[in-house]
Amino acid sequence: MRVSRIQVLPDRLVNRIAAGEVVERPASVVKELVENSLDAGATRIVVELSQGGRSLVRVEDDGCGMDADDALLALERHATSKISGHGDLDRIATLGFRGEALPSIAAVSRFALTTSADPAEGGVRVTVEGGRLLGAEPVARPRGTTVEVRDLFFNTPARRKFLHAPETELRHAQETVTAAALARPDVGFVLRHGGRTLLEAPPAPDMAARFSDLDRRRGGEPPRRFSEQAGSVSAFGLLAPGRPGGRPTLTLLVNGRPVRDRLLVGAVFRVLREAGGGLGGARVVLAVELPPEEVDVNVHPAKTEVRFARSRTVFAAVERALRAGVAAVRGHVPVNRLEGPAAIPADGGASPGAPSGSGADGPPALFDHPVYGTPRGEGGGVAEVPPGEVPPRGETGSLHTAGARPGPADTPFGRLIGQYRNSFLLLEDRWGLVIVDQHVAHERVLYDRIRRQLEGAETPSQRLLEPLLVELDGALARAVPRVRELLARVGIEADPFGEETVRVSAVPVGVDREAVEGLLRELLERATALDGVPERVAEELEEELAAGLSCRAAIKINHPLTPAEQRALLEDLARTENPHRCPHGRPIVLRLSQEEMERRLGRR
Ligand code: ADP
Ligand code: MG
Repeated sequence: MRVSRIQVLPDRLVNRIAAGEVVERPASVVKELVENSLDAGATRIVVELSQGGRSLVRVEDDGCGMDADDALLALERHATSKISGHGDLDRIATLGFRGEALPSIAAVSRFALTTSADPAEGGVRVTVEGGRLLGAEPVARPRGTTVEVRDLFFNTPARRKFLHAPETELRHAQETVTAAALARPDVGFVLRHGGRTLLEAPPAPDMAARFSDLDRRRGGEPPRRFSEQAGSVSAFGLLAPGRPGGRPTLTLLVNGRPVRDRLLVGAVFRVLREAGGGLGGARVVLAVELPPEEVDVNVHPAKTEVRFARSRTVFAAVERALRAGVAAVRGHVPVNRLEGPAAIPADGGASPGAPSGSGADGPPALFDHPVYGTPRGEGGGVAEVPPGEVPPRGETGSLHTAGARPGPADTPFGRLIGQYRNSFLLLEDRWGLVIVDQHVAHERVLYDRIRRQLEGAETPSQRLLEPLLVELDGALARAVPRVRELLARVGIEADPFGEETVRVSAVPVGVDREAVEGLLRELLERATALDGVPERVAEELEEELAAGLSCRAAIKINHPLTPAEQRALLEDLARTENPHRCPHGRPIVLRLSQEEMERRLGRR
């Protein structure tokens, strides 16, 4: 009988396994190396890539460098100069501290580390291939370090297969450098790709100046600052409108560290999507600052995810701050939603993150909502006051208005007064005036409905009589095979059809085929941008689909509803999981209390 013995894995194997945690793609190599350079006190960091980093990532800095002994030691697992005892773990000031990055990267690439701590003593060049030390030889170089990583994953073909097209990998790497550059405006950054300089940012006095430097190439408008304080949490940042049809880009910093927390990203995109009006291509930097003990940035080995002790406070602050930013860009206060569809450019809804621009052409036929979905020519009707029952006693307020009692409730939110500017539903209840945003209310209703559908075993899908051909740019089209199964889970049957075309042969029930193009694009963009376990990506895509669909399909503002339709909407809203907030925390119902009204009118 053969008994298999427990054995300690050889280091090289351990490193190859661990590499998966830190090294997902060229951008993660860039991130780790740039963080090391920053930790080393560099004042200028040059990142050079070829083939989106697939064939080469080189990061050069003028930091403290290492002597020959340290250069060899740096490649050992758990070798770090940044932490020594337990206490240190609670107050980590450096970006790295696990001592995992260099050995993990060297285990899955052809790797060279050239460094010098003191040019007078000379430098050293250490070469490693697939985790095997090839040599260490003396070289001359100024103080600082250069790390070269060639042929990432050359010895792990399974992982190499998951690398995306060079342009996609480049986009991720570029985002990484941009994020680092925004987090550290005091440090100069250069990014080159295949000989072209993509980014050049000299040291700048602050984040806004750095932002403008980075944005200059795009010829963008100057950014607006926004900020919001909620207790010990502060959220501030910059927002520049960008091209209306473009895709939004976002840099998130938590206590000065770039993160890619999906919930935060989702919250920001959500606010932009809701804001519509050409913010599709907005450029946003959002920095969240909070006491270190209220946040854990070390949940994920690559430190991209964060956990907040009081996440609700954080999210509320983030959303309020961002909405203020949106308002600042628009140059007026947030009630601008009253302006109606005419103010929303008809960009065909193809831009991710922006709502469909179909508002001007009447209601979208995306989703059937027979009760309150059909527009009526008659305009916003004022509800009849139902014949008086006895109003609820007491509580109506002060002496001044003792006679003014609300009518009997005819909806779950009180007595319907009518529709204000074809956009808001007005009601009264015992406490005062109730205002319901019809678009967000309907969005909430649809969102809950779609989520329920998605949770079912099968997403109802309908075969198209004539397949829909969607043209996409190459990188997105190439992503289709990778996300085919995920798309199928959400009811979309899509196959590559030539280089830049995708054939859609089935779509979720109730979804308009024209809307599928925008949705598909949004989903593919999300899918290519998302890393992580397939189940989580699927979950995220479902969320994206539900949010995208409900936003597109919901009745817009400036859309007349009959009293019956208004009541039906309110009843559906009352049955949702949380009638007062949209899935991402935006309020749906606004109340103006009797007391507040009287105080403002000088009656109290
Ligand atoms: P960590 O950053 O978690 O300490 P790494 O594997 O990324 O682990 O790096 C190991 C060690 O190598 C660091 O602690 C640091 O001492 C040294 N090192 C890495 N990169 C540089 C650099 N660019 N300049 C100076 N020292 C570096
Ligand atoms: Mg490191």
